[in-house]
Amino acid sequence: LSQRISGIVGQGGDDGWSVYYRARELAEAGHPIVMLTVGDHDIKTDPAILDAMRDSQQRGDLGYPPVTGSAALRRAIAERVSARTMHPARPAEVQVVPGGQAGLFAALVATLDPGQSCVVLDPYYATYVQTVRAAGGRAIVVPTDAEDGFQPEAARIEAALAPDTRAILLNTPNNPTGAVYAPDLLEAIADLCRRRDLWLISDEVYDVQVHVGRHASPRDLPGMAGRTLVVNSLSKSHAMTGSRIGWVLGPEDAIARMGELATTTTYGVPGFIQDAAVFALTQGAQIEEAIALRYRRRRDAVLESLGNARAVRANAPAGGMYVMLDIRPTGLSGLDFAHRLLDAEGIAVMPGESFGTAAAGHLRVALTRPEAVLRDALGRLVDFARRIA
Ligand code: PLP
Repeated sequence: LSQRISGIVGQGGDDGWSVYYRARELAEAGHPIVMLTVGDHDIKTDPAILDAMRDSQQRGDLGYPPVTGSAALRRAIAERVSARTMHPARPAEVQVVPGGQAGLFAALVATLDPGQSCVVLDPYYATYVQTVRAAGGRAIVVPTDAEDGFQPEAARIEAALAPDTRAILLNTPNNPTGAVYAPDLLEAIADLCRRRDLWLISDEVYDVQVHVGRHASPRDLPGMAGRTLVVNSLSKSHAMTGSRIGWVLGPEDAIARMGELATTTTYGVPGFIQDAAVFALTQGAQIEEAIALRYRRRRDAVLESLGNARAVRANAPAGGMYVMLDIRPTGLSGLDFAHRLLDAEGIAVMPGESFGTAAAGHLRVALTRPEAVLRDALGRLVDFARRIA
């Protein structure tokens, strides 16, 4: 069997996902586990979006959808981008994909020839390295530092480039760190892409979940629209993880490649899901704002619950659905801490080691439970850390 898709997250060795799988087993066996692991909502898809999905099914338009995405959805996406960013977008610059993850894969296949490399910043979203590999490429992993709030350094990225590097993969707001990349940093990375003729693959699935400051898309920077592929989806913004709907925005020739990829793989996204997405994008502003607000409140509640604990320090997230905790003062690895916390308190969080090596000694708490549950869980986590420190 091909090695390209072996060792996908959580299936191989003990990279931190053992906590998640053990927590699931315990929960399935009836233990009351507080799951703060993966980034799936406790919030359900809004009934108005589901109505739009059902209406579409009842209209009976259930044939093959256009592989690029429906005209209405591509238009709605282009209008959203044009309204929210400095650089307008056209429908021909949009490829509809079944979720951001499929968008990442499509963007990598469209930009890398077999064996070429792509820069991935550590800590990284759990699928990144394997997605580069599955797309036939090679990941060059560049660390960031907790001490810098996990903001990458352009000089460090430049030093790591290889002659065959074709792309840099960025994610802001960031999962797992919660960092929102500073404008001068984005400028420096854009400058690097222009000088070294690189693609920038910009994963912006948390773009509406910004708690501090503003989201800035690197596509807006001078000369970048022609070399940036923005990956986005409705998974996080509209609580539609299960609908598998997203897009890639980029220059037309790259988008055309992705259309060809769709012809050989997905053959399009179900029409009723696309119709629900059109509704979500054109009439779902309040739904989106309410979800973002809910996560902001949860984030604030978690930071408040930590108080000024000495053994557990938060990297206050500027965006996203997670809070990273620095537990290095306890002397334990994130992995050991998370397993012991699961046993002692029935609270499941992701060890920083699940996201590369730069977040060792950290924990990622997903804000996927109501505020009261988070307050209680974080209080118990701090007490636990105090006991073992
Ligand atoms: N990119 C990042 C940074 C994510 O955190 C996630 C999901 O957690 C994805 C992509 C995949 O999202 P989607 O559900 O749109 O495939």
